[in-house]
Amino acid sequence: MSQTALSGLSLDELWMPFTANKAFKKAPRLVASAKGMYYTDVDGNEILDGTAGLWCVNAGHGREQIVEAIARSAATLDYAPGFNLGHPLSFQLATQLAELAPGDLDHVFFTNSGSEAIDSALKIAIAYHQARGDGQRTRFVGRQRGYHGVGFGGIAVGGIPANRNPYLPYLMPHVDHLPHTHGIAGNFFSKGQPAEGADLADALEALAQQHGGDTIAAVVVEPVAGSTGVLIPPVGYLERLRAICDAHGILLIFDEVITGFGRLGAPFAADYFGVVPDLMTVAKGITNGNVPMGAVFVRHGIHDAVVNTSTSGIEFFHGYTYSGHPLACAAGLATLEVYREEGLFARAADLAAYWQDAVHSLRDKPYVIDIRNIGLVAGIELESRPGAVGARAMDCHIDCFRTGLLIRTTADTIALSPPLIIERAQIDQVVDLLGRALQRVA
Ligand code: PLP
Repeated sequence: MSQTALSGLSLDELWMPFTANKAFKKAPRLVASAKGMYYTDVDGNEILDGTAGLWCVNAGHGREQIVEAIARSAATLDYAPGFNLGHPLSFQLATQLAELAPGDLDHVFFTNSGSEAIDSALKIAIAYHQARGDGQRTRFVGRQRGYHGVGFGGIAVGGIPANRNPYLPYLMPHVDHLPHTHGIAGNFFSKGQPAEGADLADALEALAQQHGGDTIAAVVVEPVAGSTGVLIPPVGYLERLRAICDAHGILLIFDEVITGFGRLGAPFAADYFGVVPDLMTVAKGITNGNVPMGAVFVRHGIHDAVVNTSTSGIEFFHGYTYSGHPLACAAGLATLEVYREEGLFARAADLAAYWQDAVHSLRDKPYVIDIRNIGLVAGIELESRPGAVGARAMDCHIDCFRTGLLIRTTADTIALSPPLIIERAQIDQVVDLLGRALQRVA
């Protein structure tokens, strides 16, 4: 960034999230505005958004319909408490979301983030079992390499050592982890779902045998794991998890924070894979990332069990000051309208084959050891430098940013997830810019 653009700006006070603060502040990358498929940095350079921000901005940036809805809401009803008081927008949004959701996931609990959605879903699972007199179900099962945000519940069921290890003594007890599904030799460079590995779901059956199936409250997985490098479920894997859950009365929670709202070319991954969970967490694309919001979708019977069996006034002692915030609801309603009017989920499905061919064309670039894709998502895994996991991909991120492309990296996997409005020529541009960076980065 130029000294002119940074003049008068102190970078010291802000402690940046999930960032190498010292390295970043030595060579900052700051954006000033965004429109359509592009960010503009503080020096006025355009950067093609290959990641929809952080898997959020599915309808593209600066959408007037959404901006106007937020502005209208801010001017009309800036805030309303959600406890024992309501406002129409939150009910309208819940109704529209319930209509969009698969199966009987027809009740919606609002949060402000994906992390809060996961912690809320874990509590709903506990409340449900307790309501049915099944309170001995105290165990949760997550998966290695799962990411479910940074709340204590989310890091307990999550499977990323760096997120969990410093807090191990403080985490929820009785949590097991299924093996992740990545790294099977026959699956490298798969297009779409890999063929091998459905049997890895049987680890859930083994846990049920070990502890007793009737001690497990829920299993939590991302249908496609994003944050640890785009891990796509093997053919038949999610179906098998569903069957094992059904056999033991275990709730299946899908964390659809990144897969929700069209990322795979269907409203939710549950639709794409044809496997309906009992609870589904979302965030990000629910408002096009324009106002923070998350939500838990809850199956009819689970909601009713908690609410109808309760004898106290408040059936579920849980909620956030900003649950169903008017600005977030206005953004959510306008976002759903844009998705509908522009058929963006179907658009993503139509583009998926072109996207697949484009990203797999990078196969012969230096250090590329795997490429995987599904819907409008791709993971390009690089060989790690000895003793410096993540450094090569981070260099690639910095190189791409300088030449006008935003990519996301996690360890040495480059994750791509562009807004669903991307044009074919822009897909070519993503691959061209990334290909050149891969050529340069040693
Ligand atoms: N769950 C998944 C699958 C995610 O990818 C994320 C964030 O990337 C979260 C939960 C946490 O969401 P948030 O950062 O909004 O708390």
